[in-house]
Amino acid sequence: MMLSVYKSFLDIEASAFSFKVNDMCFIRRQQGKARYFGNYYYPAMAVCCCSSYFSIVGKGISCTPYPDTYHYLIKYLLQTNLENDIGKHSPITNCKNPIGQCAEPHAANNYLRKIKKRHPDPIPLFNIDSALYFSTPFRPRIKGPVLVPQLFPYCDNCKSTFVNCS
Ligand SMILES: [Zn+2]
Repeated sequence: MMLSVYKSFLDIEASAFSFKVNDMCFIRRQQGKARYFGNYYYPAMAVCCCSSYFSIVGKGISCTPYPDTYHYLIKYLLQTNLENDIGKHSPITNCKNPIGQCAEPHAANNYLRKIKKRHPDPIPLFNIDSALYFSTPFRPRIKGPVLVPQLFPYCDNCKSTFVNCS
């Protein structure tokens, strides 16, 4: 029950965020600068997350993962659950996404950053892997005239990292 309430709330947030991402990329597309892959424009995915601890929403888009941009809790979570370094492929999931590339860990990272701003020190240490709830992954923009974001399932990396990505 709790999970579905959070999910409904987060899906509304993520839908709005998807349109925002699309708007931000609009000019770049007009200039022919927006990258695309197959049938969609980057960024491929947009996700929102929250927990029951703070009234904060973390927002993330899928993008190249750099170890230094990740909060140590997220970095630790990814590397221990997926048994490889950020940016590499997991030997246990065989997921095509490199570790840390997904919108979910970026949203979780953004969430922790926002907490840090409001509660400078120390960041409350709770079980971040089970405390966070995630929206459905949205693809902000496919090529062509369709403006409705597409919905996707969680990937195996995210399922293995976050308890509520199931
Ligand atoms: Zn994923």
